[in-house]
Amino acid sequence: MKRPRRLVAVSNRAGPVKGAAAAGGLAVGLVGALREYGGLWFGWSGRVAAPGKTRLHSEKIEGLTLATLDLTQKDFDGYYNGLANGCLWPLLHFRMDLTHFEREHLDAYRRVNDQFARQLGRLLRPDDLVWVHDFHLFPLAAELRRRGARQKIGFFLHTPFPPTEILSTLPQHDWIVRSLFAYDLIGFQTKPDLARFHDHIRRAAGGRVQGGVVSAFGREVQTGAFPIGIDVEEFHRFAFTASGEREFHRMRKALAGRDQIIGVDRLDYSKGLLRRVAAFGRYLEANPQAHGQVIFLQVAPVSRGMITSYREFRHELERAAAHINGRFGRFDWTPVHYLNRALPRRTLAGLHRASRIALVTPVRDGMNLVAKEYVAAQDPADPGVLILSRFAGAAQQMGAALLVNPFDGEEMALALHQARAMPLEERRNRHARLMRCLHEYDVKRWRDEFVAALSATRARRTGAGAAIGTA
Ligand code: ADP
Repeated sequence: MKRPRRLVAVSNRAGPVKGAAAAGGLAVGLVGALREYGGLWFGWSGRVAAPGKTRLHSEKIEGLTLATLDLTQKDFDGYYNGLANGCLWPLLHFRMDLTHFEREHLDAYRRVNDQFARQLGRLLRPDDLVWVHDFHLFPLAAELRRRGARQKIGFFLHTPFPPTEILSTLPQHDWIVRSLFAYDLIGFQTKPDLARFHDHIRRAAGGRVQGGVVSAFGREVQTGAFPIGIDVEEFHRFAFTASGEREFHRMRKALAGRDQIIGVDRLDYSKGLLRRVAAFGRYLEANPQAHGQVIFLQVAPVSRGMITSYREFRHELERAAAHINGRFGRFDWTPVHYLNRALPRRTLAGLHRASRIALVTPVRDGMNLVAKEYVAAQDPADPGVLILSRFAGAAQQMGAALLVNPFDGEEMALALHQARAMPLEERRNRHARLMRCLHEYDVKRWRDEFVAALSATRARRTGAGAAIGTA
């Protein structure tokens, strides 16, 4: 593959490049690619400044340039808390009931995308490849084109893409979809997400789909599924060296022969946490012999704490965990352990390794990297069992897990029983199959295939698509 002169990645939040805070799957995948291509990473600085005092910061770190922009409080509230997290996130996860649309939020969303385009446009070189990430920045390419950008620009959606019936409930959804046609390539996590996008274009936008090429609004755009993966070796190493190894031994000692079931998720309603805790309660109810023998550890750092639905959800979860502990617990056994904070990646890897079972049961998820991290952290000679929701993108690839319906508490409780009783031979066999798929679709393949597909798109004719989506 011919290497582009420079890769420019754009995401809502850019940086940090180093340290524990750079731990998210997106950051890890991106930083690797940017180092490889000597690139630029552009996004919000994480800082809020007074109107007129917002600044563009630029620094070179470990072979890449980090350029970040401050936002005003009003823009941050409307764009990030309002439209992105209060409206688009639930909608993209099929939760029309939680979707809250306000016109001012949409205005702020447009304003921020416009500011990003203005600042980023000045930094772009003519032959840059631009890779825009996620639903915060749907209209970014349209704004860049409006300012004359001719570079190849790709977009990757890290969340699911909803059915047309759900998407169509969003006021202004046609504007958002139209704005996507200013990209040269649109990538989704899974084939079903891609198929739902194609379906929407055919049914709601009067467009055509031929192979991966989608035509609508007088423009053609290439589309594809690019399932995101992890750096498998690195995460495995985390579990077996230094602090990961230490956490593993500490945890094993604390467990004193009990089996640990682990859940690791941001505190988000899409992760199915309430149903998961309830299913564990159901398992305990049906299996008195397991009392005192099994612990469920849920690690769930607070996210988006400014949004009401998240605050309410957190309280509900705390009540549900306390209810199970009150009902089943004994003075020498607390069934549910609940940690409300983020942990360093190495610590997490050690905890995964020490856990006999992982419960990864989102009610809807783009990919779910936690499922992949749990598998990578296992000892192949004595691996744990992954129980995975059919509605996580990862289920498309990880059929060797115990797949469950997260809406079916009985099925989840039975899967817990099956996982605890699973013979070593079967555990090894399933783990080996899961590892093959992790290796096949790792993070390097994800970014290389996306960049190769973007590079291969046809060069843009002068003026083409300049005004797409900005009407
Ligand atoms: P999402 O992007 O919706 O949060 P993913 O499962 O795809 O879900 O990615 C979550 C990433 O955040 C994973 O890399 C995971 O290890 C990390 N993560 C989740 N919970 C924690 C935690 N408590 N501490 C540290 N990292 C976490």
